[in-house]
Amino acid sequence: MNTLCIHNPASAALITQLGADDAASVAVKAAAARAAQPAWNAVPLAERKACIVRFRTGVLAELETLAATMTGETGKPIKMSRNELNGLLGRIDFFLQQVDAQLATETVYAEGGMTEQIEHIPLGVVVNISAWNYPWFVGGNVYVPALLTGNAVLYKPSEYATLTGLAMARLLHAAGIPQDVFIAVVGGGEVGAALQAQKIDGLFFTGSYATGAKIAQALGPRMVKLQLELGGKDPTYVCEDANVQNAAESLADGAMYNTGQSCCSVERIYVHEKIYDAFCAAFVDTVKGFRLGDPMAEDTYIGAITRAPQLAVLEAQVADALAKGATLRSGGTRLPGPGNWFAPTVFTEVNHSMELMREESFGPIIGIQKVSGDAQALQLMNDTRYGLTAGVFTPDEARAKALLAQVNAGSVYWNCCDRVSPRLPWSGHGDSGVGLTLSTYGIATFTRPKAWHLRQA
Ligand code: NAD
Repeated sequence: MNTLCIHNPASAALITQLGADDAASVAVKAAAARAAQPAWNAVPLAERKACIVRFRTGVLAELETLAATMTGETGKPIKMSRNELNGLLGRIDFFLQQVDAQLATETVYAEGGMTEQIEHIPLGVVVNISAWNYPWFVGGNVYVPALLTGNAVLYKPSEYATLTGLAMARLLHAAGIPQDVFIAVVGGGEVGAALQAQKIDGLFFTGSYATGAKIAQALGPRMVKLQLELGGKDPTYVCEDANVQNAAESLADGAMYNTGQSCCSVERIYVHEKIYDAFCAAFVDTVKGFRLGDPMAEDTYIGAITRAPQLAVLEAQVADALAKGATLRSGGTRLPGPGNWFAPTVFTEVNHSMELMREESFGPIIGIQKVSGDAQALQLMNDTRYGLTAGVFTPDEARAKALLAQVNAGSVYWNCCDRVSPRLPWSGHGDSGVGLTLSTYGIATFTRPKAWHLRQA
């Protein structure tokens, strides 16, 4: 057995050491899930739903402790940890409300003794390799509908959110999900790679493009259903008729919430030249008001950077932007430890020659670029290899819709940003990934349609 050390990114203190999986234990767990899945699928849907209802009750009962655990290992400000757990409850409710209709067998033809039906059967054994930044959201988006639809789940939390992942397993088991129907697998990338080598029926991944591309390459010849929810470089355009103060406050929050470590963080802002100076001033003022500090403190807005190597990525983007002529308006440096800290950073006078405007930052840093109008804004918004979300701020609905219709992104926002709804599909274009979670499509994705052709003798 290997060992995994869990550190607090805000203090660098060792929280605990855990036994981690290796290739041999991963194979044993995969075989156990395979053996357990048919019996789980035979459990009536009402009982599977009752387990998830009890899981929801368990999460609610322990919400404060679960929030503190997540904040301890990820550095997420405690209020945001609570927000995530409360948000999870709404997602669970949505899945519970919708799953019956998604699993009902459909009769699509019945004439002259011939009946045609579509049955929705589970994929079988699915793997979920997860990210650390919203572990309850990105994990729950997969394992809640996967379990409801009769799948067994091998769940690998990120090595940066393992205690949270183990709490999920404990609460699911306490709620009645059999031990071998939901199995937590502990470890880093090598354990993820061992998981993907097993005989599995689906792999649902949330993480970086680099890892997603490796997984896609490995699974390519094996005909395993693959979903990849990857990074973004999400743009927003602020038109000259927008309310400058409201847009600046909303976008500063969209860029810096969770210390900028959200897949749908606002990562590029384009502002019409007529309001550029006023917008930049209001934006910088807002960011300067964000309180950075102990993630456990109630008034902390900017927490720690979860992964220490990301500090070097942020520093490189700062150096590149400065070398190419950007104006630094706030922050720009890592802060003294212990722990991983980076000052909220705002650049103006940026352009697309800069890494800051091309590659995912995943930290509290943003570039604001001046544009001459809608045509240039649209061209720049689409000048990216990613396509997760995009937004437009203007009171003019027709103008916003006309622009957003031409943007390549899975989700588009009018006068809002950094928003996810259980009722809407969550997906990306380009290097932001393939497949989707959430909405009714995000339940159906854990099933396969089986076509029945039935002729009366
Ligand atoms: P990561 O790619 O470093 O790790 C993700 C997971 O993959 C971890 O569990 C890790 O242990 C595992 N892994 C690493 N190497 C592997 C390998 N070779 N084979 C199998 N598994 C392997 O990403 P991260 O740092 O955890 O997450 C940050 C990224 O996730 C950002 O790019 C962010 O935008 C993205 N993200 C996307 C969404 C979305 O919904 N699109 C949501 C959250 C995060």
